Amino acid sequence: MIKLAPSLLCANQLNLERDITALINAGADMFHIDVMDGHFVPNLGFTMDTIKQIKAFTRIPLDIHLMVDNPQEYINLLKEVKVDYISFHLEAVKYPRRLLQLIRATGIKAGLAISPKTNVDFLPYLLDYLDYVLIMAIEPGFSGQNFIPQMGDKILAVKKIIDKKGLNIHIEVDGDVNKNTAPECIKNGADILVAGMTSVFMKGIALEDSYRNFKKVVVGPEGK
Ligand code: ZN
Repeated sequence: MIKLAPSLLCANQLNLERDITALINAGADMFHIDVMDGHFVPNLGFTMDTIKQIKAFTRIPLDIHLMVDNPQEYINLLKEVKVDYISFHLEAVKYPRRLLQLIRATGIKAGLAISPKTNVDFLPYLLDYLDYVLIMAIEPGFSGQNFIPQMGDKILAVKKIIDKKGLNIHIEVDGDVNKNTAPECIKNGADILVAGMTSVFMKGIALEDSYRNFKKVVVGPEGK
């Protein structure tokens, strides 16, 4: 089953509650929430206070994507908020195994995010600590970039490494995933797709409709 994770940073920030409600009504699988610190990436995202308020507002799982230096400093706060998924960037940490274990010890699903420049040689030694791998299809930090075509091959490479071990590790793809790029992501093994400006949050279409339309595209006519 392919899951869609609308990225709340793409929602209308002056009408966040309205947009979240629309996505809940449309049956959103989970919400993708970018946390940025202005250091790891030159941008800012959601604060812990806002995440707390979102958690109090909905039971839909929250998928936190930490694009920050020192992601370990956020885990306790996110544990208190009781988010459901946390990924951090391999490029931001010295000891990814330790941090994955720390996240899992809180009962939260642990994910490792990788930027386009990062190859996947590291994966085998982390597999036992991972619930999902988040593959960035654009450089992290800003929406509005185009899907980097070689990331399709990277998804496949990650899928092969996971399957070789027979593990149940999800593959999430983040960045310009839309009706044109999603089919290849899915074919190559992705099962969680972050939905942003080019798939769900589009001008001139009601959010409920664009979410449902995109969901139809990704699950196919049989609704698998
Ligand atoms: Zn993200």
